[in-house]
Amino acid sequence: MARTVLVTGGNRGIGLAIAQAFAKQGDRVAVTHRSGNPPADLFGVRCDVTDADQVDAAFSAVEAEFGPVEVLVANAGITKDTLLMRMSEEQFTDVLDTNLTGAFRCAKRAATKMVRGRWGRMIFISSVVGLSGGAGQVNYAASKAGLVGVARSITRELGTRNITANVVAPGFIDTDMTAVLGDDRKAEIIKSIPAGRMAAADEVAGVVTWLASDAAGYISGAVIPVDGGLGLGH
Ligand code: NDP
Repeated sequence: MARTVLVTGGNRGIGLAIAQAFAKQGDRVAVTHRSGNPPADLFGVRCDVTDADQVDAAFSAVEAEFGPVEVLVANAGITKDTLLMRMSEEQFTDVLDTNLTGAFRCAKRAATKMVRGRWGRMIFISSVVGLSGGAGQVNYAASKAGLVGVARSITRELGTRNITANVVAPGFIDTDMTAVLGDDRKAEIIKSIPAGRMAAADEVAGVVTWLASDAAGYISGAVIPVDGGLGLGH
């Protein structure tokens, strides 16, 4: 059965791969893009997830086009890496505001309609470092760990309404976010991954579409690693 899907940050990287995977299976897919243009073949709405009014307007635009959002993929995220003693309060709160509070804003806006429709899937894109931590990533790891608490609380609040909330924790995925790392750093990270390689964004997308499927209807509050064994199941 075709569903209405909204992927935040769906104009590139993992979000784009997720949006394309849903579109390929026949769902009605909308993506938010903060900058640039949306992908040519997908319905795009401009939205900065740090602004609740923009989030509200984006959902309203998707509802007008396709109807209520049934599957939310909270994917938009940023890094502002630096060591704790050098990290400014702004670097900390900016990352939290986008990665964690941004996901909260979207989940809150999606929830009312999901409750009314008595069906919903929320999938939060976290990271392996949310549970393992990362040097230079106090802000990012905190934001990604916070998503676990969000998903598990939503599971408790809305579980009886046929709404699931899960976390996908990718490891080292080949996108713009990791392209900024130098070759030496990449080689060092790859050495620590049991699979011995980075993953393509498609490998995350396949897990997300499965989590949104009827087959995964009894999975909620889970953290699903897609990390080649890097976190060893956390
Ligand atoms: P990219 O940097 O390639 O893409 C990030 C996306 O998020 C872009 O679409 C960007 O929009 C959007 N975005 C950032 N800030 C905002 C904002 N304030 N409002 C709306 N959209 C925003 O990253 P990836 O595709 O690699 O990452 C996607 C998600 O996966 C992130 O949450 C990331 O933390 C997570 N992740 C990535 C891993 C990796 O190895 N790549 C590993 C683990 C987790 P714009 O184009 O306008 O900048």
